[in-house]
Amino acid sequence: MVRTRPQLIGVPYDASSSFLRGSAAAPPLIRQALWSPAGNQSTENGADLAGLTDAGDLTLSETPAEAREQIEMGIGALLADGFQPIALGGDHSVTHPILRAVVTQRPALTILHIDAHGDLYDEFEGDRYSHACPFARILEDCRGVKLVQVGIRTLTPHQREQVARFDVNCIEMRHFAAGARPAIDGPVYISVDLDGIDPAFAPGVSHREPGGLTVREVLTMIHQLAGPIIGADVVEYNPRQDIGGVTAAVAAKITGELAGQMMSGPAVK
Ligand code: MN
Ligand code: MN
Repeated sequence: MVRTRPQLIGVPYDASSSFLRGSAAAPPLIRQALWSPAGNQSTENGADLAGLTDAGDLTLSETPAEAREQIEMGIGALLADGFQPIALGGDHSVTHPILRAVVTQRPALTILHIDAHGDLYDEFEGDRYSHACPFARILEDCRGVKLVQVGIRTLTPHQREQVARFDVNCIEMRHFAAGARPAIDGPVYISVDLDGIDPAFAPGVSHREPGGLTVREVLTMIHQLAGPIIGADVVEYNPRQDIGGVTAAVAAKITGELAGQMMSGPAVK
């Protein structure tokens, strides 16, 4: 058993956003909030974030296919150095190349995907790699992966068909509100789209969808995971939509607690 070693990595890419751009500017602002002197470096479970390293931001092409390759290679290099990524997006399309790299090391894992949206479109406005599609691509490419979604509240008939087709465990927000919770054992990758959280708490997103999760509900899901976290991303923070940096603080809080859970929670086997 080896201790999980998380490492931050910025993925400043938003060219696959369908509505508003802006999330490419997120990584340095999330870091700034994470290391703000307004807080300290202890996580809720007692880990010390002084031990959290940072690979900096990837340099990415504006050409989507090139950027995807660069992301996959960048995450692959981080993994080869013995770290587990906490990727700071960027739009949600970045999760597909990240997972392609992660599954080369660990083909069987569960993704806990927090989002207002299913992100399961076969294609969106002619783009199969849109930020509305990453989990369809992941489930096609990564056959050992199970997908558990939480907070979803925008499913179309097509997306409901995709949930059935890919055998997704989709805990819609209405089900979560009625008490349903994810039950995950074994290694887990967590993908946090900040619009899964209610816009009252996280307005700085491109697609505000009322009726979502509280920040505390997201943190509780992270803290209560039985299995090790082998990677994570925090995506879709759009500084252009933020109000007084409140969403940067939410992104930073979730990032820090993910790191703390990786450092002090169940270890990677
Ligand atoms: Mn998303
Ligand atoms: Mn979303």
